[in-house]
Amino acid sequence: MEILVCVKRVPDTSENEIEINKDGSDIERDDLVYSVNEWDNYAIEEAIQIRDNVGGAVTVVTVGDEESEEVLRREMAMGADNGLHLLDSAFDGSDGRGIATILKAAVEKGNYDLILTGALADDGAGQMGGMLAAMLDYPYASLVNKIEVIDDKKIKAGREIEGGNQEMSEMDLPCVLSIQTGINEPRYVGIRGIRKVASVEIPTLTAGDLGIAPESVGDAGAKVKRMDYFMPEMGEGAEMLEGSTDEIIEKLIEMLKAKGGIK
Ligand SMILES: Cc1cc2nc3c(=O)[nH]c(=O)nc-3n(C[C@H](O)[C@H](O)[C@H](O)COP(=O)(O)OP(=O)(O)OC[C@H]3O[C@@H](n4cnc5c(N)ncnc54)[C@H](O)[C@@H]3O)c2cc1C
Repeated sequence: MEILVCVKRVPDTSENEIEINKDGSDIERDDLVYSVNEWDNYAIEEAIQIRDNVGGAVTVVTVGDEESEEVLRREMAMGADNGLHLLDSAFDGSDGRGIATILKAAVEKGNYDLILTGALADDGAGQMGGMLAAMLDYPYASLVNKIEVIDDKKIKAGREIEGGNQEMSEMDLPCVLSIQTGINEPRYVGIRGIRKVASVEIPTLTAGDLGIAPESVGDAGAKVKRMDYFMPEMGEGAEMLEGSTDEIIEKLIEMLKAKGGIK
């Protein structure tokens, strides 16, 4: 099975103090530590496990600047067979539709049976998988937490439904799935794995290579305009109860009674 996994390089929120930039249009991106979007690691792990069970190859693709190559290399160190870097200054400032347009062109250059995205990335739109599937006219399932390969024409995709119920659907290939965290346990990437792929050539494709009109993507093609980016004002602070444990319990009961929480 030929599997394409879409990955995004995102600021590592555990390593960074996130601040809004001066003109309030984005976060301050200088000096941030970046890593692979968490959801994409689960998608890669799932793709590797499927390949190891049924054969085929895993290709990992990103739309991003020069530095984004590091996430391709990391996922190749994890076990992906190939990397593909979609790199062109015309892609800068793409909205979600722009990113999906670029990824669609890359999908059409290959011969993929299964396309995996993360369910969500740092911008939190959760839109890429659905948009990509619609553009390709492929079937799509979101928030997938289980995949079973039936044969080279069909898979079963599982989703957790409200209330903890599980749904299983049979889907025709090729299809697009957005992967939920927890579907597996992503493997550890060791130094040996990173060294092994350090000098592997990763092909890049530009707008021209992909047959994309530059003005249809990037800033020029964006149909969504971000108007503001800010941290919401803090609400009223928490009230710290002082005193002995018994006094605190008494005060807490009074407060809950006053607010109608208990009678
Ligand atoms: C007007 C505007 C301008 C923007 N300008 C920029 C910009 O200059 N630079 C920038 O980085 N972002 C920019 N963005 C944000 C960019 O459009 C989003 O990164 C993109 O829409 C994906 O949204 P998301 O992160 O919410 O992804 P989601 O839809 O939440 O992500 C789901 C999955 O899609 C896949 N995916 C998402 N992005 C990529 C990618 N780049 N490559 C491969 N797979 C991907 C991953 O598998 C990911 O797990 C801009 C957005 C707007 C509205």
